Amino acid sequence: MPPMTAVRGFKDILPQEIPYYALVEDAMREMARRYGYEEIRPPVLERTGLFRRGIGEATDIVEKEMYSFQDPGGESLTLRPEATAGIARAVMEHGLLEGALAGGRALRLFAMGPMFRHERPQKGRLRQFNQLDVEAFGDKGPYIDAEVMALLMDILGRLGIGGLEARVNSLGCEVCRPPYRERLVGYLSSRREELCEDCRRRLGTNPLRVLDCKRPGCREVARSAPTSLDGLCPECLAHFDGVKGSLSALGIPFSVDPLLVRGLDYYKRTAFEVLSGGLGAQSAVAGGGRYDGLTALLGGPDAPAIGFAVGVERLVMLLKGMGGRKAPAVAFYLAPLTEQALPRSAGVARALRASGHSVAYDGEALRLKTHLKRADKLGAAMVLMVGEDELAGGYATLRDLRTHAQERVPLAELEAGKAPAVATGGITEGPLA
Ligand SMILES: [Zn+2]
Ligand SMILES: [Zn+2]
Repeated sequence: MPPMTAVRGFKDILPQEIPYYALVEDAMREMARRYGYEEIRPPVLERTGLFRRGIGEATDIVEKEMYSFQDPGGESLTLRPEATAGIARAVMEHGLLEGALAGGRALRLFAMGPMFRHERPQKGRLRQFNQLDVEAFGDKGPYIDAEVMALLMDILGRLGIGGLEARVNSLGCEVCRPPYRERLVGYLSSRREELCEDCRRRLGTNPLRVLDCKRPGCREVARSAPTSLDGLCPECLAHFDGVKGSLSALGIPFSVDPLLVRGLDYYKRTAFEVLSGGLGAQSAVAGGGRYDGLTALLGGPDAPAIGFAVGVERLVMLLKGMGGRKAPAVAFYLAPLTEQALPRSAGVARALRASGHSVAYDGEALRLKTHLKRADKLGAAMVLMVGEDELAGGYATLRDLRTHAQERVPLAELEAGKAPAVATGGITEGPLA
């Protein structure tokens, strides 16, 4: 039997990659703390109907990308392809929206974790990928839109991702969007021949997405298309002005992009993207928008909401490109050179760990050369050698593996948990802001 392998499109995140993921998660947590966003962890599995309603039947995700199956009880379940629908379900189910809907502060949440989409692995797409998600419920004013964008910029900024630029647009509302949609369909139909096959189909289902198409022919058509900004109703216009004013007040650099759209029908007013020039060509790192209609669509109260999602793998790729260097994996590698040195070495290992140091210890007396090889492979910062002379003299020999400097440290001190502090774990000298 050939050895087992992982499922196609499902990637193992190996120990050497974890420090990058930890950096991203730490940046999310730290900025969420500063902005007052609380973490929520909905399950990865939901009823299929949640996504059919919450994402929409006529979308690529629902049509062909969902991991859906019948569970043994006969119910159709789906691995979440995105986070928003599940979070919206959870906040309604647990009554978390009540305060905000009664005129209180907005409910501010974030989530992190894996999403699942049956995409094409040959394009380098993962079928299990990770996202950071931020959602704010219950506030329809323009300030919160700008706040969410500022939070996104600050998470990316903390990671040291440079060349950031925000783009923003307003897609209108249930009053001004239908007439705009009609004008857009009229225009696109007049140039139907120039559109790609996908976009011709989108004309009937989701015409706004044509503006989003990356094919040169469609981009050419989009360039002279009527924009939602030209037809905003007075309320939407005031809201958009409010968003731009708040962005300026928060010091967020942005530009207005009338071709920026979100694929789903319940998106309303604000749509935004953040681009980075960090990988050469400028490209979108994250996007989001206002989705005031979602909670009602899921059978709950009508709560305004805005949020964004960021692909973690993309951030990890940016961070790797920035050349961050890994800090030593462990502070001390304990190297007993004789059998007699084993008991006191074990005691030292335990005492140092108890006082907060990371220690690698294997309980084996080996030749120094073998120990040094192991310590090097492990990425240890310091080696503590205990041999015959050391035992007799009551000390250990401490060697710094970077500088090769050596010094004697009394065993009694080490057994009391005292040792020089060494920074370990994570990434240093690179992306950390
Ligand atoms: Zn409007
Ligand atoms: Zn197209």
